[in-house]
Amino acid sequence: LGLLLPGTAALAQTKPTASPNANIEQRVTALLAQMTLEEKVGQLNQYSGREVTGPASDRKSTLLNSIRSGQVGSMLNVKGVKDTREIQAVALESRLHIPLLFSLDVIHGYQTTFPIPLGEAASWDLDAIRLGAHVAAKEAAASGIHWTFAPMVDIGRDPRWGRVMEGAGEDTYLGSQIAKARVLGFQGEKLGGTDAVLACAKHFAAYGAATAGRDYNAVDLSPQQLWETYLPPFKAAADAGVATFMNSFNTLNGIPATGNAYLQRDILKGQWQYPGFVVSDWGSIAELANWGYAADKKDAAQKALTAGSDMDMEGDAYSQNLAQLVKDGKVKTDLVDDAVRRILRKKFELGLFDDPYRFSDEAREKQVLSDPQNRVAARQMAQKSLVLLKNQNATLPLTKQLRTVALIGPLAKAKRDLNGSWTVDTDTTRITSLYDGLSQRAGKNTQLLYAKGCDTSGDSRAGFAQAVATAQRADLVVLAVGETWDMSGEAKSRTDIHLPGPQEELFKALKAAGKPVAVVVFGGRPLIFDAIADQADAILYAWWPGSEGGFALADVLFGDYNPAGKLPITFPRNVGQIPIAYNQQYNTGRPITKPGDIRYKSAYIDAPNTPRYAFGHGLSYTAFKYSDLKISRPQLKAGESVQVSFTLTNTGKTAGEEVAQLYLRDPVASVVRPLKELKDFRKISLKPGQSKTVTFTLDRDKLAFYNQQLEWKAEPGAFQLMVGSASDDIRLEGQMELLP
Ligand code: BGC
Repeated sequence: LGLLLPGTAALAQTKPTASPNANIEQRVTALLAQMTLEEKVGQLNQYSGREVTGPASDRKSTLLNSIRSGQVGSMLNVKGVKDTREIQAVALESRLHIPLLFSLDVIHGYQTTFPIPLGEAASWDLDAIRLGAHVAAKEAAASGIHWTFAPMVDIGRDPRWGRVMEGAGEDTYLGSQIAKARVLGFQGEKLGGTDAVLACAKHFAAYGAATAGRDYNAVDLSPQQLWETYLPPFKAAADAGVATFMNSFNTLNGIPATGNAYLQRDILKGQWQYPGFVVSDWGSIAELANWGYAADKKDAAQKALTAGSDMDMEGDAYSQNLAQLVKDGKVKTDLVDDAVRRILRKKFELGLFDDPYRFSDEAREKQVLSDPQNRVAARQMAQKSLVLLKNQNATLPLTKQLRTVALIGPLAKAKRDLNGSWTVDTDTTRITSLYDGLSQRAGKNTQLLYAKGCDTSGDSRAGFAQAVATAQRADLVVLAVGETWDMSGEAKSRTDIHLPGPQEELFKALKAAGKPVAVVVFGGRPLIFDAIADQADAILYAWWPGSEGGFALADVLFGDYNPAGKLPITFPRNVGQIPIAYNQQYNTGRPITKPGDIRYKSAYIDAPNTPRYAFGHGLSYTAFKYSDLKISRPQLKAGESVQVSFTLTNTGKTAGEEVAQLYLRDPVASVVRPLKELKDFRKISLKPGQSKTVTFTLDRDKLAFYNQQLEWKAEPGAFQLMVGSASDDIRLEGQMELLP
């Protein structure tokens, strides 16, 4: 274990998280002193209870009795002012009147659905992302929810893993910035605001590194990768004051995360001095026995609490065993008290003891949920999430001269799919399809034709002929293809990430009809679509854009909004290239000696090493020129920082935004470093012909990495700086040197 703990330099760079409020600590201590062991254990239980407000059943009466007798600390999946008030009233009948925390997976919107988190990440727009989380929190809070199980800050580098849709992609720097923005969006600056909920950084830790991209699988990770790639977004969330953490289903180097004292006690509650509490993932305490890490549920409860898991989500491991374990001397009372204290602290900070109903009433709920501003924010976020992957001969935007557009494809009229996985709202009347968005925008001069063409599954080509005939009557085809919403998300790993069904064949048939084809691809992950990538005239990647997605797509297709999204995750050419994240690329010891000779190089014989679309890629309807790179000082001494500045010019005829990216390489180091690492980015808006100076600041911390002793240190020597429009589109390069 000692070997795995980072040294003091790493500790020095980690800021301690905010210290708890003294007044609240006194109230917690006073309450704790009155609690029986059973009541303490009660606070550590969370149950899922849609049934609790449903028709009479055994489960319903058991749950209500448990709540009334103070054996439940939190409920999940009960929502709405009416239901949460009704159940809170039952909790207040308990001896000490301790209110419940109502929790829910509010992942990308409550009623107004925003793009999936991976789509939001493609905006690289931290203010918009923060606003998205804020709107979700505002709606949820007005509807009786106190706590969301978001953000998921797991770095996701394997598109086979269905949950990449729920995170911010593959990059640690971008992911950490987004983690912070989301936490602040959900919680506000200080816990307890009317329009805010408690957030939860999940899944601690390394859940995204599941072997072979198979959900819930074991994780084997070097200490360097754990510290450098997977932990920083969690630390960023903790520094931003995230109220809770959720642990994860996976093992980490043989130890299940839920029973992992190194992760929860040593790192989170020890080194990071984290004052919040850790909730298990669904049943993950009981699952310690399934892993073969605990003999039974009782042993699992002992191991999980000892390792630092405070609350048992839907597992009954604590409720059935913890009191007995304490009586038998197997679990120390102090550890139980610490877990209870952490949970009560958040209930106080949220203001639940002062108003257990937290301002929620049905009139306010109705008013907040119907506020049109929420939909405006969702539409703007959806616009920002769209990534223009390809645009030959300026096929897009659709020009005013176009008379007839054929909208074809199995997802052209899709509604439910647009909301993607992890949605609270399932009312499709609130969702605008691509077809609806385009027909509203098309106006009198443009005629919109439609044909479905095929399904997303099966292999029937029966609809191809009609689709081709429809294309022949049009000036241009917009083809809407992709995954259905239920193909990505939890437990939705795929070994084959091609477009499902005969969709690519449909594309080929339409392309053969001779009309330009602009393809809109929907999906919760990077997909593979070779023929489309090679032959389509334009490709717009839409992710799952949320309830306003159809409007946002029409805005971009018709040029009312100039797309500026950039990929937060690499798109491979084929599954065999995975893992292929941009900063997992290293120089190898085997350079090519003769041009074309790849025999001894680290390469495949059947595909290039490059991805189909690189991290950071995304086009605009205008063009940007990068010039005049200036590095304020060529040599950096201790305590100094360096300014990297350049001029960005919009050289096209349309106003637009560009995400300028700063990458760094440490060419010689005591641990081999990646060819490129993102260190900063800026989203800049420019009118046609306009120029702006962009400045990034690099300090010693940005040059550092974890060395073999796991010390966070910058090593003296040369550094290469790269500024560009994508990780594979570097426009300016420079050098600097770090002095000892
Ligand atoms: C997921 C969590 C989620 C929880 C509650 C689990 O299966 O892994 O991310 O918050 O369910 O719905």
